[in-house]
Formats: sequence, structure tokens, C-alpha cells
Amino acid sequence: MADDRGNLTVLGASPSWQNAGEACSSYLVDVPGTRLLIDCGNGAFSELRKHCDYLSVDAIAITHTHGDHMLDLLPMAYALLYSPRALRGESRRPKLFLPPGAADRMRAIFDLIDRAELLDLAYDVVEYDPAEALPLPGLELTFAPVPHFVPTHAISVEAATGGRLVFGADHRPSQRIIDFARGADLLLLEATLMFPEDGVRGHITSVEAAEIAVEAEVDQLVLTHMSDELPRDQLLQQAIAIHANTTLAHPGASYVF
Ligand SMILES: [Zn+2]
Ligand SMILES: [Zn+2]
Repeated sequence: MADDRGNLTVLGASPSWQNAGEACSSYLVDVPGTRLLIDCGNGAFSELRKHCDYLSVDAIAITHTHGDHMLDLLPMAYALLYSPRALRGESRRPKLFLPPGAADRMRAIFDLIDRAELLDLAYDVVEYDPAEALPLPGLELTFAPVPHFVPTHAISVEAATGGRLVFGADHRPSQRIIDFARGADLLLLEATLMFPEDGVRGHITSVEAAEIAVEAEVDQLVLTHMSDELPRDQLLQQAIAIHANTTLAHPGASYVF
């Protein structure tokens, strides 16, 4: 029986390049009243179509402008504007929530590939204010800047039932993500690395993800953004040894919160 809780479906769990047969970062969130896409990395639009009608997406929230988190906004824009149904007048202009300052960067990317105006024709573009909660029917979004190579925001989705999902986006280890994730029912964290990087860091390991989950006292941890050329089972087991309720995201996996 369907209930009122939120549902997360993984569309893409690849890192900055695609795993074989898998899309880059993208997650479909359903609560009664709103269908939300978090990130829309390369390959995501095809995966989205396996799970729902793209015209049913109410809103899209982007964590940061790295390609693996937003490149499929372009094919999705083409579908919204030029698909057979769009040409028959069946159209939809979903909200597109972008990080502060990202709208013009996104228009420039669209301009380089096609035309800048496609972005605003296809989407109702809004730059979110990380200091403000953003209410949508059946959920509330909040944002927290996290340290990465470009301006990046973790996103919290709180369902009307009180269930809370936090997606960390991409980030190096930081107290900020621990504080933001505290008490979440479902925590989705990148686990890009096998070992911490040298120099300026921008990502975390599965062990660091599990340590964040323990410190933030979250119920369930899902690891994502991991290459299929890494020993994924081993990295998952290392995380489970620290935070028992941990799984590895894969396309089509779904979780309630
Ligand atoms: Zn990424
Ligand atoms: Zn990134």
C-alpha cells in the first residue's frame, strides 16, 4: 500500500564519468504533491524515462554545475520543447532550482551548444538562496554550502510526514555536512575515493562517508558517485564496519524516508 512517506529512486550513481550502463548523478524524489529531480547528470534523462513520464517532473534542484550533475538538462530541454507531444501542445515548464550565480553559467553552456534562451524556454529558472527554506507541495527543501572544487550545496528534502533525506552532493570531509545531515532518516553521500587525495581535497572515501553518518546519527546511509573500476564490494564492507545500515546506490534502487 502506498503511504505518505517520501521515496527516493536512484537514476544515476556514477562518478564524474559514466560506469558501464549507468548514468551520472541523478535522483528522483517523490512525495505526495511533488515529483522532484535532484541533479541531472549525463545519462540521467534516459534513466528518468524508465521510471516516469518526464512531463510529470514538477521541479529539478541542482547541487552544482559540474557536468556529471547537470549535463542532461540539455536533452531534457529538447524533449520539453520539441518532442512530438510538446509540438502538439502538451507542454510542461518545470521549476529549475540552481545554485546562486549558476543561471548565467548555465545559459552560457546552452549558448555554446545551441541557444542560451533554450534554458528559460524549457525551465522556470530560479536561483535558490541557501539561507532560505524552499517549500514545495508536500516537502521543504533546504540547502547547505559544502566544500568542493566549485560552489556546491548539499540538499535536504523534508517530507510533510517529517521524514528527511539529505544528499551531500560532492564535498571533502567537513563539519558542515555532519551538522546539516544530523538526524536525517536517509543520508545519500558520495564515496568517490579509495584513498584520500593528496593536496586540495574535493571528495571523500566510503570510510569517511560512514564516519560522517555515525557522527550525524543518521539512520540509513546510501553510498553513491563510485566508479565501477574500484572494488565496490570491499569499499562497501569497509563502510558497513563503521555504520551497519549502509548500502551502495545502483540505478533503480529505491528507498523510503
Ligand atoms: Zn560529481
Ligand atoms: Zn563535482
